[in-house]
Amino acid sequence: MTRHSARKKIYVLSTGGTIGMQKTPEGYAPEAGYLAKSMSKIPELQNLDMPIYTVHEYEKPIDSANMTPADWFQMGDYIQKNYQEYDGFVILHGTDTMSYTASALSFMLENLGKPVILTGSQLPLFETRNDARENLINALLIAGHYSVPEVCLYFNNKLFRGNRSTKMDATSFAAFSSPNFPALGQVGTDIKIRHELILKPTGDQLHLRQIKPIMVSTLRIFPGIPHEMLKTILQLPLDALILETFGLGNAPEDPHFIKLIHQAVEKGMVLVNRSQCPYAKVKMSQYATGTVLLKAGVISAGDMTIDAAITKLFYLFSKNLSHSEIKAQMMVDLRGELTV
Ligand code: ASP
Repeated sequence: MTRHSARKKIYVLSTGGTIGMQKTPEGYAPEAGYLAKSMSKIPELQNLDMPIYTVHEYEKPIDSANMTPADWFQMGDYIQKNYQEYDGFVILHGTDTMSYTASALSFMLENLGKPVILTGSQLPLFETRNDARENLINALLIAGHYSVPEVCLYFNNKLFRGNRSTKMDATSFAAFSSPNFPALGQVGTDIKIRHELILKPTGDQLHLRQIKPIMVSTLRIFPGIPHEMLKTILQLPLDALILETFGLGNAPEDPHFIKLIHQAVEKGMVLVNRSQCPYAKVKMSQYATGTVLLKAGVISAGDMTIDAAITKLFYLFSKNLSHSEIKAQMMVDLRGELTV
């Protein structure tokens, strides 16, 4: 444990989500100004063993279902602008797309050397019974007192690598999981961080990569999927298509289907193979039903989450790389998102 005696300074960016929502006739909805006010009334947050924090609350907090890549950039920009002044960053965010934002920021914040921890809750802070308070306190403590220079997601006593996390449960307090990588930390009576798993900073100058809008889509394969469905989606001007395949990365050996994939690859589209099983690492050569995809030019997403695979495509296309470089980089571990 690396605890420091001086009080650290944390920048809290409150973007919206259930954590700061209020009850309305239409259901929970974000309310501007509510979160910062409520935080100031939580006595534990004012304790001397807590870091000092500044809350920047969005004027119009959003339900994270409404987030877009422009919002990822906005968050990254606030971090960049406040980077020198603060020791760590906590982003309060809706759970629906929190793992997409965490994945995107992990790529966009190049040379990150300070903790960026996303958290939120399943029940709002105003409810008597809630998970908001604990998530908030622990995220602040970890950002302030531990050396975790990564984009992380903290939820229900677990610290995950952001780009390994995914939302698995819509109601349980244990909403997130990291199917193919161990948790970076566990909170019990002690806060235990697995320092051997934490990434080392790669440079000292933080650089925020702008994200370009790209056309990316996913197609979930199911038994009997008509090849016309693939044909229709491939008629869109897509930059990349992620095929959500079976098991280790298998799909029907329908020759029409394979021909369409081959033609799309020839045209320059990036086709990515990602298994439907959250706990899986694509290995196309294991079965003939996977080898056909490999031969048609589909690349493997390995054990990346779908959230990481999508946001990594956004990131790589934004770097103005050639298509062959993008394909190569998709299979390289850039921020701990992939087991190679
Ligand atoms: N719809 C909410 C959001 O993602 C759900 C949540 O925060 O848990 O903003």
